[in-house]
Amino acid sequence: MSRREELAAALTALRQRICDACAAAERPESEVRLLAVTKTFPAADVGLLVDLGLAEFGESRDQEAAPKAAELAELRPAARIRWEMVGRLQRNKARSVARWADVVQSVDSLRLADALARAACERRVPLRVLVQASLDGDPGRGGCPPVELDALVERVAAADGLVLAGVMGLAPLWGEPAPAFEVLARMAERLRRDHPDAVELSAGMSGDLEIAIAHGSTCVRVGTALLGGRPLASS
Ligand SMILES: *Cc1c(COP(=O)(O)O)cnc(C)c1O
Repeated sequence: MSRREELAAALTALRQRICDACAAAERPESEVRLLAVTKTFPAADVGLLVDLGLAEFGESRDQEAAPKAAELAELRPAARIRWEMVGRLQRNKARSVARWADVVQSVDSLRLADALARAACERRVPLRVLVQASLDGDPGRGGCPPVELDALVERVAAADGLVLAGVMGLAPLWGEPAPAFEVLARMAERLRRDHPDAVELSAGMSGDLEIAIAHGSTCVRVGTALLGGRPLASS
């Protein structure tokens, strides 16, 4: 099987999972978008996914994503591609990320929000931002502590150059994802009350996308189930 055939088969299976999960949750499929997380995979794979109809890709490291986005622009010059940063982000990378990313899903501190707002001044269009909420208290996985979330939301909403788009969260590494996604759904609901346009709820990965869709996810971020296994160190 060629890589293209392999990716096509994985994409078909993945779309079926999303479709079944939406049906089970009695939600329209149009409410849930698929973000293909291409970290550790080459630009050639992204090109094949573009050929298969995908246009939104997630990356977790600036050092990897910046050259990959440039390479893809050469490989598929006509494609309209959207890149989203989903990984932990140091403030000193804000300027670089603001050059290649259309969306940053992992904004978890006031200082990072401020750095991105400054960096976004150099952009033609505003940078869309999801605030990442910590659902497991693990500082190594990023995310804003729930008690600080309101302040972060207001900071992003007030920043020139940033558009508050919603909230993102990662299920705990151990234990049941459902209670964490329920907490995240309540945060999203609260956020929409004050900011009706910030409708995005980014939740669910290869292993737990059905549960996330049952809890209102509007964006599943899928790597492994689409592209295959990654070396452990970079997962
Ligand atoms: C890698 C990554 C994903 C994709 O995870 P899979 O389990 O491979 O689907 C999703 N979200 C974030 C933030 C990631 O870093």
